[in-house]
Amino acid sequence: MTAYLDNNATTQPDERVVDAMLPYLREEYGNPSGIHAMARSARRGLDAAREQVAALVNAHPSQVVFTSGGTEANNLAMKSAVWGMGMRRIAVSAIEHASVIDVAAYLAGHGAQVNELAVTADGIVDLGAAQDLITRFKPQLCSLMAANNETGAIQPVVAVGQAIREQNGILHVDAVQALGKIPVDFSTMGAHLMTVSAHKIYGPKGVGALIVEKALDLTPLLHGGGQEKGRRSGTENVAGIVGFGKAAELAQAEMSARSAHTAALRWALEQRLKAFPAVTVFAQAATRLPNTVFFGVKGVDGETLIMNLDAAGMAVASGSACASKSDRASHVLLAMGVDEALARSAVRVSFGYRNTLAEVELFIGALERQLRLFSSMSALF
Ligand code: PLP
Repeated sequence: MTAYLDNNATTQPDERVVDAMLPYLREEYGNPSGIHAMARSARRGLDAAREQVAALVNAHPSQVVFTSGGTEANNLAMKSAVWGMGMRRIAVSAIEHASVIDVAAYLAGHGAQVNELAVTADGIVDLGAAQDLITRFKPQLCSLMAANNETGAIQPVVAVGQAIREQNGILHVDAVQALGKIPVDFSTMGAHLMTVSAHKIYGPKGVGALIVEKALDLTPLLHGGGQEKGRRSGTENVAGIVGFGKAAELAQAEMSARSAHTAALRWALEQRLKAFPAVTVFAQAATRLPNTVFFGVKGVDGETLIMNLDAAGMAVASGSACASKSDRASHVLLAMGVDEALARSAVRVSFGYRNTLAEVELFIGALERQLRLFSSMSALF
């Protein structure tokens, strides 16, 4: 039996999402920019989805700019601030996703000054140090994620946003991992820009949105037909956007039940992990997303462990999707001061609403067998 335990990487689309999308691939294939009945029907699908996504994050539908995903929304937020609004001083946390960190590095290579917000050993942005840096450096743009994709640690976005506003800067929040797992409220968060993505909330891949404060004049990355009120040109991915809308509606209705369910699985897993002396759960003292457990196993190579777990039918990750393709230790763990060897042994389990307690037991059984194997092999040398 296989267990899919990698829901922070992506989720299996909900059947109700797929059902909502199919008519827009089969019959309702009009171009929403047109004026005939089929075009209008596609436009109605877009409008409804915009309302559903806006409702999930407590924003106005006009603030939703649909994109090809979280990566594009992060690029749009930061490049628009620098290229369009002339911002030069940027602060980003040390634990951002590559689609923020790499954009900051790119912008730094083109004249921007970039400073990093440090995190504590628990994987939370060090608020005192952040406030100090914001007062001294006066960043015009700060990018801080709502919750980290690897550890699940929830970040102090409201407090950082307040400090940034006091310096007349703007805050961009990458809420890709928080969305659908904990309440995400654009109106009270104090952010100017916020990134969301459909495929982490049981929606389709390749669809996301940037939520934009009304007063901000967003400079587009893509010019052309003027879709999304000129903020993102390109014929809309109507079926994908409709799927995102449905996924958002379901997330709103089912978030507390889903979170209670995954939190129970997380608790069960962490209880069982206590029996393994070599295991350290990262960011355990932080308030974390209810579905995420990130741990290291002393003396074990994470890539080998994950491949062996995969062979045993357990789909888990070694950290962020991009880091797991390379040989690098997780930048998130290194920023938390975790020893490099332990960081290289990291395994991320991220539950979704379909997972069960039986799968937790299967995973523990598979892990136990692997660790026994590792220790008998190391005894040989
Ligand atoms: N931001 C975070 C925190 C993520 O975890 C991810 C995806 O892993 C992204 C952004 C990128 O989103 P997308 O896959 O929609 O481009």
